[in-house]
Parts: sequence; C-alpha cells; structure tokens
Amino acid sequence: MTIDCDFPGGNILLVSRTEDALMLRPDLRDTTQPWFYWHFRVRGAAGRSVTFSFDTPECVVGALGPVVSLNGGSNWQWLGAEAISGNGFHFRFPPEALEVRFAVAFPYLQANLEDFLIRHRSCASLIRETLCLTASGREAEVLRTGCLTGEPRTRVLLTARHHACESMASFVLEGLLEATLAEEGAWLRDNVEFLAVPFVDKDGVEQGDQGKARGPHDHNRDYLDQPPLYLTVAAIKRLVPAWSSGKLRVHLDLHCPCLRGADHEEISFVGSPDPSGWRSAQAFARLLREHQRGPLVYTGACDLAYGEGWNAGMEGQTATTWASALVTGGFAATLEIPYALAHGTPVTPDSARAFGRDLATALAGYLA
Ligand SMILES: [Zn+2]
Repeated sequence: MTIDCDFPGGNILLVSRTEDALMLRPDLRDTTQPWFYWHFRVRGAAGRSVTFSFDTPECVVGALGPVVSLNGGSNWQWLGAEAISGNGFHFRFPPEALEVRFAVAFPYLQANLEDFLIRHRSCASLIRETLCLTASGREAEVLRTGCLTGEPRTRVLLTARHHACESMASFVLEGLLEATLAEEGAWLRDNVEFLAVPFVDKDGVEQGDQGKARGPHDHNRDYLDQPPLYLTVAAIKRLVPAWSSGKLRVHLDLHCPCLRGADHEEISFVGSPDPSGWRSAQAFARLLREHQRGPLVYTGACDLAYGEGWNAGMEGQTATTWASALVTGGFAATLEIPYALAHGTPVTPDSARAFGRDLATALAGYLA
C-alpha cells in the first residue's frame, strides 16, 4: 500500500504507519495557523480495510467524512458520517480498486474549470480571457458573461479562491455563471455584465496549498495601500477599476468557512465596514431567502455584521473592503459556503451549483 499527493491539488504528510493504519497530517506549508486541507491517493490496498487518522489537535474531517473517488479524481462522493472514527475515518477498499483518492471536500481544480468551459463552449456570451500569469507561470483566468455586446446597465464582480482550499465556493460560482447563460438569465444578459476571477490563488489551488492564512499574509489580505505580494491581486487591482467604469454595483467574494461547528454549517454573509453596503447586502439577502429554490437553504441566521464575532478587529484590507470603494448603489460582500453541511443538507457539486443559480435569481431581482 502506498500513499502520495503527487498530483494537482494533492496535500498530505505521512506521520507513521502500521499494516492497516496510517497516521497523517495536513501539510500546512506557509499557512501560519492550524488548518484542515488534505487530498491524497492510496494505491495497492485493494480488498483491505484501512484506518486513516490525523494527529492534529483540531478536527480535520468534515461532518460527512471525506470525499472518495474510485476513478482517479473524476467522480467523488461523500463517504458519510458513519465512516468517521475519532479524527479520521475507516475505509474498506473494493477488491478491484487499484487507486482511491480521498479529500477533505470535493476538489475543484484547473481541470474542473476546463470541463466547465468545454460544457459551455458553444455559448457566445461566455468569454475566457487571461487575467495574468502567476509567479509559477500559470495562466490565471477571467471569465466574462452577461451583457457583452452593448453597454450594460450595471456590472457585477465575482471572485473565488482567495483561499486556495475553499473548493465548494467554486461550484457555487459555476452555478451562478451557468444561470447567466441559460434561458432564465435573459434579463441578466440584457442588462448586467459579469466579470469573474475563478482562481485568485491559482498557484495555491493547483499546488494543493491550504492558502488560508499564508504568511506574511494571504491573498484576501493583500489589498493593502502598498504593492500587492501576489500577481493575481495586482492584476485585479489594475483591471477592475477600469472595467467597472462607475457601474460596479455588486461584488460577491465566494469563500468557505471553518470545517466544523454550527456557525460554519450555515451559508452566511460576512459584512464589510461600510454600513450602507451592509444594509444593501441584507436587502439582497432577503431576496435570496424569498426566491431560493435549490436544496441548500440560506436562512441568514449566521450572517456576521462587521464588528461581530470573528469579524471584529479584523486587520488589513480584504477584497471586499477594497471593492466597497468602487461599488455604487450596492454592496461588496463575502459569502461563506459550508464544506459539508448547510443547514443540515449535504453540500455537493450539484447542490452548490443550484445555490449559485439561486444567487443569480436574487441578483436579477436586486439589480432590476
Ligand atoms: Zn476564505
């Protein structure tokens, strides 16, 4: 039996092993606090029953256990809460399983974005452009959709993966973008131009970094009154003011919260310091509650205004505090999408995409 993480998004440290038990640890790399991203591959274990445990004081397994892929990372599913054992899980490898991958949540990597773009390659109203090259020479994309042929009434900025590990946010972004391409998105295509940065920390996503709380600061804390550390943030700070030309009304920055805990198992908005922006975000949130149809239910019970809970005494400018100054008549807000359970419902690629479509419906109502 071998274990490794030598593939895009891979992350694991092997601490020790016996014949049928592995002791593991997330590889924090330059993350300065305990975090929980991991994604690894096991080969040569067909037919065996194996216990995987983590030696961290913090729980690094979500409420539904790990996600598992039996086909090299193409398809995944939650293993289920019954597989959880302490800070780890048990797995019985099927007799024919040559290779099995495990991850803390559904991975969303460059290959997933390419699949999304192939699925929609016939849509003239979805354009892929280059934001910049990253420090490792990767292309960071920007996607444009909505009203692209005439002058839009208004503009919306969407960003995801300021924190590399927060993969469930990417499925929400897919659903939102899909809604702008579908029949239901006709009003949005006539009136609203969308600009989306799917991977702000592209290198971190592909390298399998935690990304959250990098030292000396992470991508979401790179919006300071000084030159950014990260090329993608520098490119966003150049592009967005020129692109928006006074018509930016909404910026949604999509994130995932902590892994466990009641507050982190609810979809929630996180406020920026601008009080009028927070009031606008709450007006949008009310529309979302009224119009949501998908399985993931947003209640608003865990929304966190600026100055409350962990959103008090936050240092440094974030993407949304930076974008607040560009927004007119609307809001810039962080939206937290849970990793595993949202108000008791499993978060999966399909349920997260459906929530993205609900966001698009609420946006149309809000912007109209
Ligand atoms: Zn985040």
